[in-house]
Amino acid sequence: MGKVLIIGAGGVGTVVVNKVAQNPDIFTEVVLASRTKSKCDAIVEAIGDKRIKTAQVDADNVDELVKLFNEHKPDIVINVALPYQDLTIMDACLACGVNYLDTANYEPVDEAKFEYKWQWAYQDRFREAGLTAILGCGFDPGVSGIYTAYAAKHHFKEMQYLDIVDCNAGDHGKAFATNFNPEINIREVTQKGKYFENGKWIYTEPHEIHKPLTYPNIGAKESYLIYHEELESLVKNFPTLKRARFWMTFGQEYLTHLRVIQNIGMARIDPIIYNGVEIVPIQFLKAVLPDPGELGQNYTGETSIGCRIRGIGKDGKELTYYIYNNCSHHEAFLETGAQGVSYTTGVPAMIGAMMFLKGLWKKPGVFNVEEFDPDPFMEQLNKQGLPWHEVFNQDLEL
Ligand code: NDP
Repeated sequence: MGKVLIIGAGGVGTVVVNKVAQNPDIFTEVVLASRTKSKCDAIVEAIGDKRIKTAQVDADNVDELVKLFNEHKPDIVINVALPYQDLTIMDACLACGVNYLDTANYEPVDEAKFEYKWQWAYQDRFREAGLTAILGCGFDPGVSGIYTAYAAKHHFKEMQYLDIVDCNAGDHGKAFATNFNPEINIREVTQKGKYFENGKWIYTEPHEIHKPLTYPNIGAKESYLIYHEELESLVKNFPTLKRARFWMTFGQEYLTHLRVIQNIGMARIDPIIYNGVEIVPIQFLKAVLPDPGELGQNYTGETSIGCRIRGIGKDGKELTYYIYNNCSHHEAFLETGAQGVSYTTGVPAMIGAMMFLKGLWKKPGVFNVEEFDPDPFMEQLNKQGLPWHEVFNQDLEL
């Protein structure tokens, strides 16, 4: 059906390649490219699919990307490198007539912003070129937006309150490790909290607001209000929302490590001079922390991510609705060699590319996932390893 180029050979890239290989009728040709080609070769070797080609590319460099795209002529690029590379890859897509999908919004290297403005600015160029760009197609952002679109389409006349709840009740046995790229993860969780209420953004100190929330099959876990990028597009695309918030669970041990890392300056994203060489402390820290892609082996427990929504149902009555997926780290590892957080990101990225190649999510311009029809995507979630469950009219605790 189509040719896909995957950029990035980390934890998420590993899952994307595995899932693309499991769907050979859709992804008839596959190329995996990243900064370190040996990592691409190791992933392909583990899968044992001789159809998959590998390549080296520095995705910060548009000329290198253009050369790669012209050589392989993919229909769509799945960008699972880092958020710093989003714009260069989008530029190369425009130069070569290639469609685009990613799982995280563009981030400037020296500012932690988590805003879509840079990528939304590509709207006219993608539309005029007749190309589709699908933004934020992991789990959160990604499935969180698709769940919300599904709820709006099938259950609600008016959605009023949205809480995205993200619990990782897994144990990887390390004193401290992050579940995806440490640099991006630490930037995300140490920034100020922010949520949307009555048309305004309300700011909080980091981790200031927290409460125990009960997760299916897991129980109660302390959950912290943090800012997450999909809130920006969801409140724009669902203007009836009076309030939208994002909650994530953290263990006490994780928070203590994080506080120390911040207090000693290791979370800094601005360059410092060390022995005459410019280094960025958080990038150095990444080099000494466990590789998230390697955590899978002994990872036990599961993740539970979902949307809790309150509003007026299609029948005109008050409705509370909870839709979620639970994902076992161990089962994800057995299937792909990667842990649950990489799995819950990589599977939706593959499904998004499948939606595009099937012509179901194809329209010129730059779009967040909730702007497409959620139904065919939801159907694939059940088939591709991330089944979802719905609960109606239960206390949402929020
Ligand atoms: P990793 O750090 O494990 O992997 C990133 C990969 O990108 C590495 O292979 C790295 O190469 C490669 N890379 C980095 N810079 C470049 C470059 N300049 N050129 C080419 N390749 C490059 O990250 P993850 O796999 O954990 O995360 C991947 C993406 O997924 C991130 O953007 C992250 O924010 C996003 N994410 C999204 C989630 C969601 O639910 N939406 C959840 C989790 C992650 P090398 O091996 O040489 O370092």
